[in-house]
Formats: sequence, structure tokens, C-alpha cells
Amino acid sequence: MRLLIMGRPGAGKGTQAVNIREYYNIPHISTGDMFRAAIKNQTKLGVLAKSYMDQGLLVPDEVTIGIVNERLQEEDCKNGFLLDGFPRNLDQAKALDKFLKEHNIALDAVLDINVAPEILIDRMVGRRVCKTCGATFHVKFNKPKVEGVCDNCGSPLIQRNDDTYETAHNRLKVYDDNTAPLLAYYSEQNLLKTVNGDQDFAKVFADIKEVLSK
Ligand SMILES: [Zn+2]
Repeated sequence: MRLLIMGRPGAGKGTQAVNIREYYNIPHISTGDMFRAAIKNQTKLGVLAKSYMDQGLLVPDEVTIGIVNERLQEEDCKNGFLLDGFPRNLDQAKALDKFLKEHNIALDAVLDINVAPEILIDRMVGRRVCKTCGATFHVKFNKPKVEGVCDNCGSPLIQRNDDTYETAHNRLKVYDDNTAPLLAYYSEQNLLKTVNGDQDFAKVFADIKEVLSK
């Protein structure tokens, strides 16, 4: 099973990626982990990627693509993989296609865990965290017993700076601007499988298994 997983920030992609990895027994390849490993092992591309990151620059597509290509040639990817966080734009998607074609393999599906932006904004903006013990609550979906107070340790709950409406809205906009062309690209190839992510985790995973069995 060769898969890509996509989803807006906060859509629950991480949880489903773990389920998919375990159920289908394929490696979960996230770009973040891959970069960390390449840098740690000081591969040629890892060193190159780090030089951009150290300067606060975006790692160029060709470096990212090189790192992904190296990873996909490792033994554990022989029977499949779940790519997460890559491709991020159309150029990367085309480079991935080229790589797959050269290796005579093809994607089975591109999963999109879909949750409407308004719902995600609601989830993010209502989040409250305990500064002392790190417990998280939500003003609507996971209320503390006493408003504004941590159930575990009695400390005041705070809203993190990146959980404001504006930040949530911007993050989602950046994501949608970048991935909308990708969704269209994979839809044209009949690879896109959209799953409703606004359900409990078990139901989302049941739906994933169903769309992948078709
Ligand atoms: Zn606490």
C-alpha cells in the first residue's frame, strides 16, 4: 500500500497515520522525521538542508525531494509507505511522480482527512492549557470542572499565543492555498479519497479502511 496522507492542521492526521502504519504494516514517513534523521546522520543532503535551516531559509524543493527519494529507496519501503507532509506543492508532487515512475511503482491512494476550517478554528481557539502541568482542556468540548482552573493541579488555564483566531485562520489559509492545487492534481488522477475527519477517531479510521478497500 503506497499512500499519501493530507489534512488541515488539527484535522487528526497524526492519529490516523499511526493507525494506518500499524494496520497496514507500512512505515510512516513524515518529512519532519526524515529531515531530523538526515541531519543527525549527516548525509550529504542532510548537511545541505541544515545549512538552509540554520540561515532561517526554506529548504529548496530539490533538496527535500532528494531526501524523500533516498528514504523511499530503503528496504522497509519495499511493500509500501505512508508519506506525510510531502509533497507540499505541485512541483514536489511532479517530482514524486517522476521518482515513482522511474522505480516502476505507483501510489494507491491520496487520503484527505477533511474537516471544515470553521470547525478547526473552533477547536483551536477554544483550547486552554495548564501552564503548570501541561494538561489541555477546551471551553466547549472538554470543559474543566471549574472554569479557567486546571482539574489536575488547580493552576490557572491559559490560551496559548498560537491558539488565537488570527493565528488559526492564517495557518489554515496557508495550508489551503498550498494544497488546493495538489488536491485537484490527485483528483484528476483518480487517486484522491476524502474521508470525513469530523467524527470520532475510530469512525474516521473505519472510513479510511473502507475507502482503501475499494
Ligand atoms: Zn495543571
